[in-house]
Amino acid sequence: MPDAAVAARSSETTDSGTTQQVDVAVVGAGFAGLYLLHRLRKAGFSAVVIEKAGDVGGTWYWNRYPGARCDIQTMDYSYTFDPELDREWTWSEKYATQPEILRYFAFVADRYDLRRDIRFGTGVKAANWDDASDRWLLTTDNGANISCRYYIMATGCLSTPKPPEIDGVKDFKGAIYFTGRWPHEGVDFTGKRVAVIGTGSSGIQSIPLIAEQAAHLTVFQRTASFALPAQNGPSPDDRKTYFEADRAAYREQARWSMAGVPYPQETAVSWQLSDAERRERFEKAWAAGDLVHILTQLWADQGVDVDGNALIGKLIHEKIRAVVKDPETAAALSPNDHPFGSKRPCLDTNYYTTYNRPNVTLVNLRQEPIKSITATGIVTDKRSVDVDAIVFATGFDAMTGAIMAVHPITGRDGKSLSSVWANGPQSYLGLTVAGFPNLFMITGPGSPSVLSNMAVSIEQHVEWVVDRLAALRDAGYTTMEATETAQAGWARHMADCSTVTLHRLANTWYTGANVPGKVQGLMPYTGGVGPYRSICNEIVSRGMLGFKMTGPNVAEQCNDGEVVRLQPDVRLVLGMLAEMNLPPFESLGAQGARDFLTEFNKGRPVGRPVGEVGTGMLQGAAGPLPYRLYRPATPGPHPIVVYFHGGGWVLGDEQSDDPFCRDICRRSGMIVVSVGYRHAPEHRFPAAAEDGYAATGWIAEHAAELGGTGEPVVVAGWSAGGNIAAVTCQLARDRGGPEIAGQLLICPVTDCTFDRPSYVDNANGYFVTRGLMYWFWDIYCSPADRTDPRASPLRGNLANLPPAFVATCEFDPLRDEGIAYAEGLAAAGVPVEQLQARGHFHSSLMMVDVVITGVGGRVKMAEALRAFAGLPPKLEERGAETPIKIDAAAG
Ligand SMILES: Cc1cc2nc3c(=O)[nH]c(=O)nc-3n(C[C@H](O)[C@H](O)[C@H](O)COP(=O)(O)OP(=O)(O)OC[C@H]3O[C@@H](n4cnc5c(N)ncnc54)[C@H](O)[C@@H]3O)c2cc1C
Repeated sequence: MPDAAVAARSSETTDSGTTQQVDVAVVGAGFAGLYLLHRLRKAGFSAVVIEKAGDVGGTWYWNRYPGARCDIQTMDYSYTFDPELDREWTWSEKYATQPEILRYFAFVADRYDLRRDIRFGTGVKAANWDDASDRWLLTTDNGANISCRYYIMATGCLSTPKPPEIDGVKDFKGAIYFTGRWPHEGVDFTGKRVAVIGTGSSGIQSIPLIAEQAAHLTVFQRTASFALPAQNGPSPDDRKTYFEADRAAYREQARWSMAGVPYPQETAVSWQLSDAERRERFEKAWAAGDLVHILTQLWADQGVDVDGNALIGKLIHEKIRAVVKDPETAAALSPNDHPFGSKRPCLDTNYYTTYNRPNVTLVNLRQEPIKSITATGIVTDKRSVDVDAIVFATGFDAMTGAIMAVHPITGRDGKSLSSVWANGPQSYLGLTVAGFPNLFMITGPGSPSVLSNMAVSIEQHVEWVVDRLAALRDAGYTTMEATETAQAGWARHMADCSTVTLHRLANTWYTGANVPGKVQGLMPYTGGVGPYRSICNEIVSRGMLGFKMTGPNVAEQCNDGEVVRLQPDVRLVLGMLAEMNLPPFESLGAQGARDFLTEFNKGRPVGRPVGEVGTGMLQGAAGPLPYRLYRPATPGPHPIVVYFHGGGWVLGDEQSDDPFCRDICRRSGMIVVSVGYRHAPEHRFPAAAEDGYAATGWIAEHAAELGGTGEPVVVAGWSAGGNIAAVTCQLARDRGGPEIAGQLLICPVTDCTFDRPSYVDNANGYFVTRGLMYWFWDIYCSPADRTDPRASPLRGNLANLPPAFVATCEFDPLRDEGIAYAEGLAAAGVPVEQLQARGHFHSSLMMVDVVITGVGGRVKMAEALRAFAGLPPKLEERGAETPIKIDAAAG
């Protein structure tokens, strides 16, 4: 149905007695509720919207404080579902003011004739699911209750202001204001002594304007926020030109972007850039006055690496010091308790200069907490400030506040949402909750919501939900409900995502830390808007994975399961590889595959600096072989790791695992010597194995020349290199040396059979395929030789070998033979540690600075190398890495 026709259609609600009967009840008439109503009507549902406020607008109805504006450019913070609407409305500024945004919502409501189905001035108090009728009953505080098939909470992430937690508020005789409930007639502070409590976004926007009016303004700050100049004015030309060139393409790009605003993925990492280059990028971002720009476009590691992030904090501190004249005030305003971006940064106009005004005082509550509010003002540990008005800019009970305020919400079997969420919100996709059929939350906890341009996220949710309801109806179902398995899987995926970003390192309203007593945990989905959208689509394409559906005349359908079992960055990498539609290696011939790999590796991050990288030649089994040596920056001598690269005995060379060699050199503080052993088909079995053994002997013998300590060497290898490392240990034992202190085997090839379950489960789709492994084996080794322990070390004697650390990845055809080798070693009495990396694929642990969730594994492997070499554990200095967990099975 064309959009224009929708406005003319009645929503066919009927009133039966005291209960209004509709297909769908929507709570909230903000950005989400308005679009829902339009979309539901268009899909032919009868719908009613219940709204506490007196009119449409939600956030923009309530937040009328001075300086209130959006902080995503309004060009992006708009509805996009109807190109005609998009064209009819033009924003006057880059960041529109609250009155203009409210006018926009009124315009939308008029354009689609929405108000006739909205019950204003009405709150929903409670909601109960009735199993017998498959309907929700909503209790309201004004007029008829509502019976509906589907109940959609569009109640807002930031719509429940946090109540003041300070004693004595009731005693205060002056005026009290909340930024989130500002009087419609405005407030004149002329000649008044004013206190503002809170320096989040609302405080930062309102403080400069209140300071201009007030006789004196005292700002009470508990946590300093990062604030950037909005540089407001007309929409910037570069963005406008980009937008106008192809509006539809621009909008589509936004939908698939990480934050809901089209910006390219930055690829340069901080340590590749010089100080001057970093400063230039930073100054450009500062001048752009755009949150998404500065949050995504400086360098690729800014949001995932503590060191890369800290560089930005320092540059912003410099900016603050340059503006704020009093050094103590400047220091207090400089955030130092959270990484940049881990809490939403704010956009400001004249915020920091405001503190140079003679009528403004900053009180740092970290040094002098508020003791109480009295009849005349505010008392801290150190002073008493008399004021005529207090403005609470203390934020919201975010994400869950408005949902939990409807109480009880009772689902199946009388279970209440507050009991299900007693330990924090649980959901499938942030959209649905197991045990609560036909209940949907728009931008609920577990969805990208507040970490995105919410206009894009809201539209995606609304469209997904309404499309599902229509599909349900068309198939004869009347209920839809998430399964417990799917919900638990989503919680795990959320946790995996949060290990990638730095949000977990900050106590913020994203984690509930601003509300006393609230259960702590990161509530928004950190995996990005585009990936989230693709997951929602995947659920549909996989037959409503994770949902149970029932109806009176149709068979129940329950397609149970978890939608994402891969680590989030692995999912992205595999998605990108699939899109590249690469030819299978085995179709290229050995030399073609080698050339291809060399080209392919040029596109990866270069790896971090180490003390020194050198090259040389060593003696292999049949002649000289090249090696590459990575030396730590610390003073030597250092213990030595002999490393064998991956590549199926056919591909790669001593340089091909360069980023990984750098990484383990840095983390372990040990020399890594990567050996260029001979390859098949030119040199078939046992050339590689014998080279590995000979090279290890040569390196042990020449350890002192190489800068080694003279202690026994350690061997390590990935994939076929893991095979060579394992074989080298067996040969060294059997042939009288060299002595080897330990073996690190990463996804090693250990056996020549292809019948273990991982060869079936992970045969295709995870880069290394069963077909590729067949090809490697065929090139390297004739069938008659394959059971030789120098090809299949699992078939050798596993006793009296050096201690081992064996890492395997869940989605790898080689997984089970790696596990079998670790188990075999353990059974033979060899000390073994095992790491089974959940959600990872064959290359995960190698992909340094790409598969960030592999960091935990890389830390563990480096610690194992140190332990083999007799070095004490090295506590990782880089805080980002400490909490990262990869499930490790006991050896
Ligand atoms: C000051 C401020 C600035 C912001 N700027 C941006 C920005 O620039 N970009 C961005 O992406 N996001 C921004 N946000 C987030 C903003 O909340 C969302 O962008 C968006 O407006 C949310 O729309 P919504 O419809 O989901 O919720 P809301 O706009 O919050 O609307 C929810 C409505 O539900 C009603 N309601 C709640 N509970 C009940 C109940 N039990 N019964 C009846 N009615 C109920 C409320 O009264 C409210 O009107 C900002 C938020 C604030 C507070």
